Amino acid sequence: MSATGEKTRLRLRVTRSAESSLRRGHPWLFADSVAAQNRPGTAGELGAVFDHKDEFLAIGLYDPASPIALRILHAGKPRIIDEAWWNVRWKETIARRDGLFDELTTGYRCVNGESDGWPGLVLDRYGETFAMKIYSAAWFPWLDRIRALLSQSFPTARLVLRLSRNIQSGQSAPGAPVDGQTLVGEPPAGPVIFRESGLSFEADVLRGQKTGFFLDQRENRRAVEKLAPGREVLNAFSFSGGFSLYAARGGAKRVDSLDLSAHALDSARRNFVLNASDPRLVSTVHRMIQADAFGWLAEARPSQYDLVILDPPSMAPRQSARDSAFGAYTNLVQQGVRLLRPGGILVAASCSAHVTAEEFSALVVQTARLANSRAAQFLVTGHAPDHPATFKEAHYLKCVYLRF
Ligand code: SAH
Repeated sequence: MSATGEKTRLRLRVTRSAESSLRRGHPWLFADSVAAQNRPGTAGELGAVFDHKDEFLAIGLYDPASPIALRILHAGKPRIIDEAWWNVRWKETIARRDGLFDELTTGYRCVNGESDGWPGLVLDRYGETFAMKIYSAAWFPWLDRIRALLSQSFPTARLVLRLSRNIQSGQSAPGAPVDGQTLVGEPPAGPVIFRESGLSFEADVLRGQKTGFFLDQRENRRAVEKLAPGREVLNAFSFSGGFSLYAARGGAKRVDSLDLSAHALDSARRNFVLNASDPRLVSTVHRMIQADAFGWLAEARPSQYDLVILDPPSMAPRQSARDSAFGAYTNLVQQGVRLLRPGGILVAASCSAHVTAEEFSALVVQTARLANSRAAQFLVTGHAPDHPATFKEAHYLKCVYLRF
């Protein structure tokens, strides 16, 4: 404590390799790289890193409970993190989306965590409803600040808070933030409706996966729409039918949405109803199949589709799951190829940061070639512009397109 009763700034010394990592702009300081600190820190307080010459290196949000001890807000020259600093950070982030979307797309990511300068925080927009998901308790003391910034730029916004699973437990203290809590405006009565590329969708911002919708697949869905005319389509791991609706609007003859979750398929059905007035959708037969995709694909009749989309959940959420992930992806691709007719298209996505785009593309191409020598990759996609990825661990999404 200083004479005024204020705590002295939390100061951290780190290993030499962590120093160079921070100097290169990496946004995480791992707890096991902290060599010394002047005192214990509390969740969300600012912590400053000084190098072995006692020169300022970086400043960030401290989290004593996480393997990531400090999430870096700023590295380089010393900077005071005050209201003006937050204002600039916010405005830069919002400006990064300028011109990306028109009124046909009212759902998009406004803040993409570390890669936008907000480590451990994402903010998704669904029309006037914003859903913010935080992955570290370090953000808890900053919620008022974010509320103010959002309301400044979007005066009619509603803001719903989502918490990652690891910070939901231990949150029983009175007044502690709760998953699904509405921070600004009236709580939503149910799923909120928004538009993507002119299609209407619902997002269950209170309980849905991520913040209620997979906004990261928009560009791949647009690509699928172009590939769909006249085709019979399997959308495996369909969730709420995102790819299915685009395929239908693109002129697919038939679309099968396959998902394990009845909840997800109910949402897919409602999304088709929401778009029922679009004349381009009426000629498509939409079927919903609730099943485990691995089992269903293995049993399905061969050569019955012209376009198969495989968008499973992360198969390698941890580094240690990489081997089993490769096995699972291989299995899916083999089955997907088996179900395709000559001239068919396979679209295979992976959202595992532990599997690189090169590894995934090689796996998909090699597996497909073994099953069918005509397999030819014609497109590989990465992150959408509203989902910037500025460091290795942030590059999770890749999607490979093959023609047969
Ligand atoms: N393609 C979707 C997102 C997919 S998210 C979109 O564009 O919105 C992954 C989905 O896979 C979830 O809906 C989840 O319910 C489903 N899922 C997980 N395991 C599954 C399994 N074994 N079989 C079928 N679906 C599964």
